[in-house]
Amino acid sequence: MTAEGSFLFQKTIAKTAVSVEIIFKGYTEQLFCSDIEILKLVNSGKSAPDKQNIKLRQYDIFKRRSLIKIIKKGLKIEPNYSFFKEFCSQIFAKTIFNVLKNDFPQFIKNKEKMHFQLEIINKYEYRCLANHDFARSQKDLMVLQFSGSALAGRVYFPWLCRKRVDASFLERTLIHEMEHQLEHLKGLYQEEEKIQQKIKLLSQNPTNHISPGLPYLYETLCNFYTEGLATYLEHKDTAFLTFSLEQISHAKEALLKLSLCDSKTEAEKILLKDFKIKGEDAEYHLGCLMAYFVALTETIRLKKKVTIISAKTKEKLTDLKDLMSFILNSREIRLGKLDEKAWDSAYQMLGNITHHSDFIKTYLKACHELKITQVAVIIDMELYKTLLNNATGNHSELLK
Ligand SMILES: [Zn+2]
Repeated sequence: MTAEGSFLFQKTIAKTAVSVEIIFKGYTEQLFCSDIEILKLVNSGKSAPDKQNIKLRQYDIFKRRSLIKIIKKGLKIEPNYSFFKEFCSQIFAKTIFNVLKNDFPQFIKNKEKMHFQLEIINKYEYRCLANHDFARSQKDLMVLQFSGSALAGRVYFPWLCRKRVDASFLERTLIHEMEHQLEHLKGLYQEEEKIQQKIKLLSQNPTNHISPGLPYLYETLCNFYTEGLATYLEHKDTAFLTFSLEQISHAKEALLKLSLCDSKTEAEKILLKDFKIKGEDAEYHLGCLMAYFVALTETIRLKKKVTIISAKTKEKLTDLKDLMSFILNSREIRLGKLDEKAWDSAYQMLGNITHHSDFIKTYLKACHELKITQVAVIIDMELYKTLLNNATGNHSELLK
């Protein structure tokens, strides 16, 4: 531990001097102890504690079936804040080094040094367990905020109970945020910010007919690429992804509603209630599926195999040529883990994209090759233009 109370770790990986600094900021001993009490309660195996008193997201991060048996046996757990800080810092640094070495070597390719600054903060809102701080991140520096509660629930507590930590949770989250760092260095977020500023200016003049939903819609469209690709990376080893026609049509409807809405409150409500898949902003999952479909064309090109099954009948798709009829018959399918080469090849291709509309175009090319028809297409250029025209009084060219 350094004099400022932060933890520092260093290691050379493939000729890059990597350093990891972890600072506990705002996640105090008091918050930590209260989280441990909630963890004990949530995993006590007794009837579900009153969710009103525990924020739902916190409940979801904390509840682990594997812990219940052990807590039931009466294991005594005394929270130890200094051990928590030291232990979690070590695990975090170790995970970063492993990810750079094994999963994401391109992240430090041709770099002399790379510094990670992790701030452990008080946060457990949905999808905000980690945040890439692009305002402060630079070429050799990645600043990341991470939820202290998530560390308590996924690293410290399982360690006390059964000498295990949820390493895959840490890995997936880190890989996701690292992808955002690469997107940031490509200038994607600056470009998005520039257009958002333009929208603000245009909205000041009522004759421009800018919908109050436009800033939200524009962000969502950008996220299809940035969050979609980060989620694709995160799920490299996930066994199955769900593809559902119903989810797609529901999401498209919500986007159209968003493009036509006439107040900020309505826009927020649509995003909070309608544009969700399993409680998560829909563009994460849908963007990830778009990347997956690109990878399917690579699977065919490289003559690799992939398992795709019907959600209902568990029947297997035998030939990717029949994918569309299989989708129509099944309505919901499970997309299996991709061959590594096909996955990589698609990632290389998608990683070179510098505008979200090019992501849609690349995806549409894949749909064309796979003979996917409208009903199963997540977003096409026609819908993209309609959405922007709806929200700009038919003047989407203003956003260029
Ligand atoms: Zn993200």
